[in-house]
Amino acid sequence: MENPLQKFKKDLQNIAKAGGRLLSIEVPENEEKPIIAEPVAAPSPSKTPEKTEAVARKVAKDGIPVNLYRPKDPFVGKCLSNEELVRKGGEGTVRHLVFDLSGGDLHYVEGQSIGIIPAGTDDAGKPHKLRLYSIASTRHGDHLDDKTVSLCVRQLVYKHPDTGVEVEGVCSTYLCNMEPGSEVKITGPVGKEMLLPDDPNANIIMMATGTGIAPFRAYLWRMFKEKHENYQFKGLAWLFFGVAYTPNILYKAELEDLQRQFPDNFRLTYAISREQKNVDGGKMYIQSRIAENADKLWELVQKDNTHTYICGLKGMEGGIDEGMSSAAAKHGVDWSDYQRGLKKDHRWHVETY
Ligand SMILES: Cc1cc2nc3c(=O)[nH]c(=O)nc-3n(C[C@H](O)[C@H](O)[C@H](O)COP(=O)(O)OP(=O)(O)OC[C@H]3O[C@@H](n4cnc5c(N)ncnc54)[C@H](O)[C@@H]3O)c2cc1C
Repeated sequence: MENPLQKFKKDLQNIAKAGGRLLSIEVPENEEKPIIAEPVAAPSPSKTPEKTEAVARKVAKDGIPVNLYRPKDPFVGKCLSNEELVRKGGEGTVRHLVFDLSGGDLHYVEGQSIGIIPAGTDDAGKPHKLRLYSIASTRHGDHLDDKTVSLCVRQLVYKHPDTGVEVEGVCSTYLCNMEPGSEVKITGPVGKEMLLPDDPNANIIMMATGTGIAPFRAYLWRMFKEKHENYQFKGLAWLFFGVAYTPNILYKAELEDLQRQFPDNFRLTYAISREQKNVDGGKMYIQSRIAENADKLWELVQKDNTHTYICGLKGMEGGIDEGMSSAAAKHGVDWSDYQRGLKKDHRWHVETY
């Protein structure tokens, strides 16, 4: 007997034979776009039936698109804008980039990442490998036309440990210096760790350092800025955002605007390490804010509809666990056991790099 995948493959072949191509596919529940089979004159080389089939296969399983474009055959997008996010007096360079996706099949959902392949070759003369970046826009893009994807990229600059010579990261420098109008090779999307629950009543706790804000910007736009018939956010969104200096608070105006507009549903708590002091007189990191709000956070994480997301610098989980451990210990609970349960329930999500 024909299994569903074989049947689906056959349907796709029939669509292709009839001169059509599958433009998008999503699960019926909570759908925002229908399946569209549109007749086209002749398939272009980048949209052969084989490729269309591969695309559909990757999307069909759980409605989450993955690896629609792979490094061997990336999508070539165009940079529409590239803006500095760090204000005067801040540290380093972080850029907000918007890429045009029109003319392809690349789509994504909030919390996923895309790969960028820098132009040029590495020291061995081989093409550069891709680097992953969290998507900073919702599936509808910053222009709300489903045709763009945005990133929030920090330029990596460090002193070489042996020579002391300043080194600039390959891909982050390529992106931060990119001129609008330039072409860019994009792969993906990838990632299922940081997806938002469909439940509009869920509580969403977000803990970000630096560019870790990227997926949370996408969540917040989806929750508060966009209007959806099947997702009207009514829960509590609480963002803890750690940066070094006030001018390093990325998307500050946007975040504070949302807080003013939605004071009952959106809480914003900064930890500005080089400016603020914690209760012990030390630097204010996210974990100090967690300790300050431990009782409320502990109450929230115990609710079945609360999801916690951590994104940003590798190593930031340590401090968060410390804060949560002391909150849990007050109630005689071992945090690592409790956290294991949350992870098993897919309510504790971490993406650090
Ligand atoms: C899932 C995921 C999401 C990500 N999202 C984002 C994002 O939203 N924004 C963002 O800016 N980045 C993000 N990153 C990081 C990004 O993928 C790149 O790693 C980053 O931009 C650096 O790449 P590069 O090509 O500029 O650096 P490279 O040229 O690849 O250099 C990186 C290498 O430099 C060396 N190095 C780095 N720092 C030092 C140091 N202090 N001392 C000595 N050696 C050092 C290390 O060997 C390191 O591997 C993400 C990573 C992952 C895995």
